[in-house]
Amino acid sequence: MCDTLEQRPFPVPANEAARLRALEAYDILDSLPERSFDDFARLASIICQVPIAMISLLDDHRQWFKARVGISATETPREDAFCAHAIMDPDSVMVVEDARDDERFARNPLVLGDPKIRFYAGAPLVTPSGEALGTLCVIDREPREITPAQIEALRIMAAEVVSQLELRRSILTLEQAVIQQGTYLEELEGNKRVLEEAESRLIAAAMTDPLTGIPNRRALKVQLERQHRRARRRRTDLAIVMIDIDHFKDINDALGHQVGDAALATVAQLLKQELRAHDTIARYGGEEFIAVLPSTGLEGALVMAERFRRTVERAAWDFRPLTVSVGVATGRGGETPHAELVREADEALLQAKQRGRNRVCGPADLPAH
Ligand code: GH3
Ligand code: MG
Ligand code: MG
Repeated sequence: MCDTLEQRPFPVPANEAARLRALEAYDILDSLPERSFDDFARLASIICQVPIAMISLLDDHRQWFKARVGISATETPREDAFCAHAIMDPDSVMVVEDARDDERFARNPLVLGDPKIRFYAGAPLVTPSGEALGTLCVIDREPREITPAQIEALRIMAAEVVSQLELRRSILTLEQAVIQQGTYLEELEGNKRVLEEAESRLIAAAMTDPLTGIPNRRALKVQLERQHRRARRRRTDLAIVMIDIDHFKDINDALGHQVGDAALATVAQLLKQELRAHDTIARYGGEEFIAVLPSTGLEGALVMAERFRRTVERAAWDFRPLTVSVGVATGRGGETPHAELVREADEALLQAKQRGRNRVCGPADLPAH
């Protein structure tokens, strides 16, 4: 490694490895032009009164221009770079008044050919830890001298270019941190969404009867409590309709449990189709369903109950007619506890069974207490 370095036709600083690492850390090579750097090149050419000025950065094989005035090239091989010599002494501004008189540069292609360099002055860009990354340099096609004030100006501007490099790196680091944070936040949001979705799926599953796809007894309890509270708050009616399939056991016995299951699911869907906007229906138990009808008085509840009865009776059952018996109970302004309403609907349902099934019974059908 050292051998190859020594064979190179350009001088290599003693801290070359650290220098290249430092340059890499600024993440500036091959970046797009930036106004703040362009301005320094422009200022250098104005102050030194030369047509060409550059901010040149030296990587392992080339000098690359972060900013340039008066030339169109964006880089040259390092062996042709005057700056490669300038960085050998980080503390001084290297001045070449006429390159033709300097044995280091007399045969340099940039002297012999375009841009025909004669005059060169380069102030090293030295990092706070002492690595010379390149130079702020000025060039003329004529031999010339440079005043001490111009040299001092170059030195000051070179230090400012390094400050600008430092600032740029801080901004890049901050931007990275912000992007990183954004990614974390996105991930967090994503995880939260997945959790919330899983949670709502779990809740939905816990509240749904798997066979019929309608709310289960647990969900019914929640709905009953909610609607009972609402009826009390708003002083509205609340109706409960209990529906029980007639002679369901016979279907199971005659056609098997699977046919029974399918019939249960069909009845649930039929009843569900009859619901109005705010009504709900749940599977209360084996072949029993309960509909909760908010803001519904006895008359409306009896109409709904009859619709439930009729839809099942009229459905096209491929084995044999299927019917339900229905019991209705209503309460005003949330005065009757919901458990009591359910009990009354159950009693009315029993009446419907006793009176021959496939019928609706309400409070008026109950024997006087
Ligand atoms: P009734 O007209 O008096 O209501 O008679 P029934 O046969 O419908 O009533 P009973 O209470 O004697 O029987 C209810 C039957 O419902 C018994 C049980 O096997 C059946 N059952 C309850 N849950 C399910 C279920 O999930 N699937 C099936 N296939 N049958 C069920
Ligand atoms: Mg039954
Ligand atoms: Mg039953």
